[in-house]
Amino acid sequence: MDAVEDDCGAIGSGGLPVAGARLDPFRLSIIVPMFNEEEAVDPFLDRLLPVVAGLAGDFEVLCIDDGSRDATVARVLARRGAEPRVKLIALARNFGKEAALSAGIDHAEGDAVVAIDADLQQPPELIGRMIERWREGFDVVACTRTDRSADSRARGFVSRTFYRVFNRIAEQPIPPETGDFRLMDRAVIDALRQLPERNRFMKGLFAWVGFRVTTLPYDHIQRTAGASKFRFWKLWNFALDGITAFSTFPLRVWSYLGFAVAILAILYASFIVLRTLIFGADVPGFASILTAVLFLGGVQLISLGILGEYVGRILVETKRRPVYLVRAAWGIGSDAG
Ligand code: UDP
Ligand code: MG
Repeated sequence: MDAVEDDCGAIGSGGLPVAGARLDPFRLSIIVPMFNEEEAVDPFLDRLLPVVAGLAGDFEVLCIDDGSRDATVARVLARRGAEPRVKLIALARNFGKEAALSAGIDHAEGDAVVAIDADLQQPPELIGRMIERWREGFDVVACTRTDRSADSRARGFVSRTFYRVFNRIAEQPIPPETGDFRLMDRAVIDALRQLPERNRFMKGLFAWVGFRVTTLPYDHIQRTAGASKFRFWKLWNFALDGITAFSTFPLRVWSYLGFAVAILAILYASFIVLRTLIFGADVPGFASILTAVLFLGGVQLISLGILGEYVGRILVETKRRPVYLVRAAWGIGSDAG
């Protein structure tokens, strides 16, 4: 609270914000993506609201309904009747958690913004400590889970493998076990809003923007209500989205592989020519030809497929469709109603 706050003036010489400047009182935004969370809404808000009310006088809980097909919207609106600082954006359909988070980031007005899931797997009580760290001068306070036992073994394995691969080849590594549960300063939110891509792999974008990041450990517990919305295929595609968005390694690796295969082919060809010159021609070779043809055919198909993964994503980006569409909003912007 010393050195950092010393260089606090709201605006630096060039009109740029001074690092570490923290307004007091400040506004806190909590953004909560919700997809079919009707059972979770009440327990979640019952636990969250007392916590945030004690932390910041001015706060908003911005719920983003990601096209739920249950009573999520009605439940949130019922709570909004008693607490107008609960706000709601309803997306036009299910756009996915990343899009819902983007909607929250686009509409949150706070000086500090916390993203949290509705399922109480992440303890709202931690928000107080996140704000302390933010006040110390960190721009991002990312919570890292210490315990994965709430998730299935298979999911833990897939997730660990993903981080290992991703961090090997991506331009900006993601700290393992950090999720979307995090506090971000206004400057980080503004930076995220500048990123133009349609593919919102938030973990990657969070890492890419940088800023001064610190982590807070927490126990990730069982869901209180409802079921996880993620399925294997969704996670697999999610992983592909992440890797293709932040690494070109899968594209480039083929030239090296091709080079290696070509060298091996030359060596083998020289060997065959020499052997034929010395020992004369004999008939065999069927097995080696078949092996080479099948192997190279397979390798070519794989490389084409990977090319396809990237080309498909280029197509999506060039269409420049919005990341999400808003069907209705309550309490957002000036026409708060
Ligand atoms: N979620 C969402 N859209 C989706 C899937 C999930 O907004 O398409 C929300 C969900 O309501 C929850 C959060 O994202 O608040 C995390 O989802 P979930 O708990 O199912 O994921 P997990 O904890 O298993 O990663
Ligand atoms: Mg969850």
